[in-house]
Amino acid sequence: VSKKIKIQDENNDTKEFYSTVPYADLCNLFQEIEGISSRLAIIKLCSSFLISVMKLDPRNLIPMTYLFINKLGPDYMPGLELGLGENLLIKTIAESCGRSLQQIKTKYHEIGDLGQIALEARKVQPTMFKPKPLTVGEVFQNLKSIASSQGKDSQTKKIKLIKRMLTSCQGVEAKFLIRSLESKLRIGLAEKTVLISLSKALLVYEYGESDKDIDMETVENAEQKIRDAFCQVPNYEVVIDSCLKHGIMNLDQHCSLRPAIPLKPMLAKPTKSISEIFDRFQDQKFTCEYKYDGERAQVHLLEDGTMRIYSRNGENMTERYPEIHIRDFVTDLSHTKSLILDCEAVAWDKEQNKILPFQVLSTRKRKDVDINEIKVRVCLFAFDILLHNDEKLINKSLQERRDILHSITKEVTGEFQFATEMTTTNLEELQSFLDQSVKNSCEGLMVKMLEGEESHYEPSKRSRNWLKLKKDYLAGVGDSLDLCVLGAYFGRGKRTGNYGGFLLGCYNQDTGEFETACKIGTGFSDEVLQQLHERLKSTVIDLPKATYVFDPSAEPDVWFEPTLLFEVLTADLSLSPVYKAGSSTYDKGVSLRFPRFLRLREDKGVEDATSSEQIVEMYENQANLQQ
Ligand code: ATP
Repeated sequence: VSKKIKIQDENNDTKEFYSTVPYADLCNLFQEIEGISSRLAIIKLCSSFLISVMKLDPRNLIPMTYLFINKLGPDYMPGLELGLGENLLIKTIAESCGRSLQQIKTKYHEIGDLGQIALEARKVQPTMFKPKPLTVGEVFQNLKSIASSQGKDSQTKKIKLIKRMLTSCQGVEAKFLIRSLESKLRIGLAEKTVLISLSKALLVYEYGESDKDIDMETVENAEQKIRDAFCQVPNYEVVIDSCLKHGIMNLDQHCSLRPAIPLKPMLAKPTKSISEIFDRFQDQKFTCEYKYDGERAQVHLLEDGTMRIYSRNGENMTERYPEIHIRDFVTDLSHTKSLILDCEAVAWDKEQNKILPFQVLSTRKRKDVDINEIKVRVCLFAFDILLHNDEKLINKSLQERRDILHSITKEVTGEFQFATEMTTTNLEELQSFLDQSVKNSCEGLMVKMLEGEESHYEPSKRSRNWLKLKKDYLAGVGDSLDLCVLGAYFGRGKRTGNYGGFLLGCYNQDTGEFETACKIGTGFSDEVLQQLHERLKSTVIDLPKATYVFDPSAEPDVWFEPTLLFEVLTADLSLSPVYKAGSSTYDKGVSLRFPRFLRLREDKGVEDATSSEQIVEMYENQANLQQ
């Protein structure tokens, strides 16, 4: 493993550098943060640390930021996920610390923290030579090799690398190394805190002042600049490099969306009635579009003429859609050199020329699709354009963006079409457009601000300027929820041998915890239950994760690693003494009543589960309506 860190600069070129910061320094910082609850105190510690490592080399900010947030690179780059399973880690700790598997397992049952176990095991282990201290650069590169190693020898390779690092660990290093490998630092360091600390460090570096002389307002301003840049270019390497080169306050001029980097898509808020739409938009001009039921597809045309299609999560899905060719729908490729479109990919019946339900789309393979074997065709329904010939369009009105979209692309039935739209302020017309969308196999409508600043495209934001109106949920809470499967209950009767019910949770984005929201046993066919059993049994863990917030009275028979989301319907939401969703807002949690399974959400990561904040918002909207 090379000790050099490879990073991308703002021009997407790869550069290398040595990070010689002792890993012990970083771990000592983590240890200190673990004992502190004040966010301001944590920011102070983190930013001073970052300032000190910048003095050695400002590029040190890059591995530090990633290690702070427990990642190794941008989410859209494959092969950089850690989150190693506990069995592999138990085996590695046992072997490298001269303990038996059983000893480590028993200890794990007692204290539930493999990091602490590794630390204690290392402490009592006699060492003949003082090992060479680990550097951040070395650990970061090793973690990358571990995350990216695949194939039949990968297990052995991973164990070997971890062991090698463990033998060099001193003090608290082993504890945080293992926790980083599990992808859970558990020191209460939220990404927001990291961003503020990063902004502060960059400001001090740039202005050459002491951090005491920089007021909080400037820091928050800088943080907003970084956050905005990150939504458009979700890559810390590029964002930090641009900050260092052009200054943090000039970031927006240098670091904005570009082809080949999937930006974080704009999201919509749920609504439960047409009247809510009129209340929201009042005298402002809004427009409605069909809400297609497929998968989000962000289409990029690169300068070299190639096309890429990214999923909602920024995963490169181009191989999944070999039948889509940019030349078919861009009117004049000699005048369109680069492009980013926001679309929905929907299953299409070529014979009858109509949309097919989502379930049909989900039968398509996700990888290695052979064009000759495709049974289900897809059609792209385009609803936005975000960049054209390197010009960023997100700060134009939706009306202007639509005009540009229509002028540079053309419809080809069943391959590329514009989202069906209607602009009206007439309630009956809107109602019948909603009915028509459902007749045409759509889920309902997206209602969007059409003109003015509020109609700009807001990357990554769940915005009030986009409302989703789903026909099926008008009577309920306005939307389905995507919840993470945390555990299961053994089936009885007909379901014996499979799991009969599941414990689901939402994700708290501030704490990084999963909060239980309901038990679900309805909506599953026998076949689905069997598939779920097959799939989930390999993710069973002996103990609940430290990040699971639950009440002992709702403990399941088995716990799982968080890997899978269920999309579920609910009759309504109620306060519950047993479930914990949103329990940091209320004393009690919010839970789903009569939850029903709809489908798996394969296109979302577990951290994209419905958030505690969203559940609380849905609960409060529902309470307002009842008053
Ligand atoms: P969310 O994205 O809000 O977390 P979700 O992934 O469950 O929730 P939906 O609630 O179904 O998605 O609604 C938003 C999605 O609808 C978008 O991400 C997009 O994929 C899809 N969509 C379909 N038609 C449109 C349209 N006309 N405009 C915008 N999005 C659309």
